[in-house]
Amino acid sequence: SWARLGSDGAWVPLLHVRGIAIAPLRPANCGFEVAGWSAHLRERFAGAPLKTVTLALPGEAPRKGEFVLTASGIEGSLVYALSAPIRKRIGQQGSATVLLDLLPDRSHQQIATALAKPRGSHSMAKHLHRQLRLDGTKAALLRELTDADAFQHPQALAAAIKALPITLLRPRPLDEAISSAGGVPFEALDDNLMLRQLPGVFCAGEMLDWEAPTGGYLLTACFATGKAAAEGMLRWLNDAV
Ligand SMILES: Cc1cc2nc3c(=O)[nH]c(=O)nc-3n(C[C@H](O)[C@H](O)[C@H](O)COP(=O)(O)OP(=O)(O)OC[C@H]3O[C@@H](n4cnc5c(N)ncnc54)[C@H](O)[C@@H]3O)c2cc1C
Repeated sequence: SWARLGSDGAWVPLLHVRGIAIAPLRPANCGFEVAGWSAHLRERFAGAPLKTVTLALPGEAPRKGEFVLTASGIEGSLVYALSAPIRKRIGQQGSATVLLDLLPDRSHQQIATALAKPRGSHSMAKHLHRQLRLDGTKAALLRELTDADAFQHPQALAAAIKALPITLLRPRPLDEAISSAGGVPFEALDDNLMLRQLPGVFCAGEMLDWEAPTGGYLLTACFATGKAAAEGMLRWLNDAV
């Protein structure tokens, strides 16, 4: 997916003009953009990690992990893990809202009870830190995405802490993605990973239309299909002799 390393997809039009139907290459395991962070969040927190949080698409099971804020949105392993369904939902609805749980190890009621304790002369920032150890990037994102009014109401603030909505508008470009979705469909290939319509042309790795999470799965499938295509070439050449 990185043109600067030579992986520029220049093969796509070459196969396309020869009648191969190729699913458009799209970013996979990628970051996503929001409508725009405030200048404060962008300047102070771009690149900062959010650790031990969960992220979920509404109606789906949350996943635990970490990600980072970027100047334009969010990226990192937890975001990559959800990137396929997020991309699909953006395609269907124009945007996708993910729900961030800033304190997954505490229940809504535990948080509301802690927040309802008297804070005396302490600021809300100090209160969040003292009662919940919620500060830094987590506190900044909570401020960014929560109505000022909610900070006056423990139940409303607890609800925001447990399900902070982040609306994602588009994936970051393919040239920044870890991998690509789309490519040559398996139906266009024979058992040797050779194009049925173009005998002598073999496909492997990210050229093929499949998608997997990062963490070794991508490399394993690329090596495996590379080996299979190489063996396919030998078989095809031997059969031709
Ligand atoms: C930053 C980053 C981190 C990643 N981390 C992981 C990870 O932890 N685990 C994991 O499983 N996957 C990871 N991946 C994904 C993984 O690297 C890719 O899925 C895999 O490398 C794709 O293999 P490929 O052979 O299909 O393509 P590529 O690795 O892109 O290889 C294609 C090669 O073909 C060359 N080429 C292109 N055109 C020509 C031409 N005309 N003539 C000759 N050569 C040409 C290119 O220069 C390139 O070297 C990561 C990717 C990125 C970008």
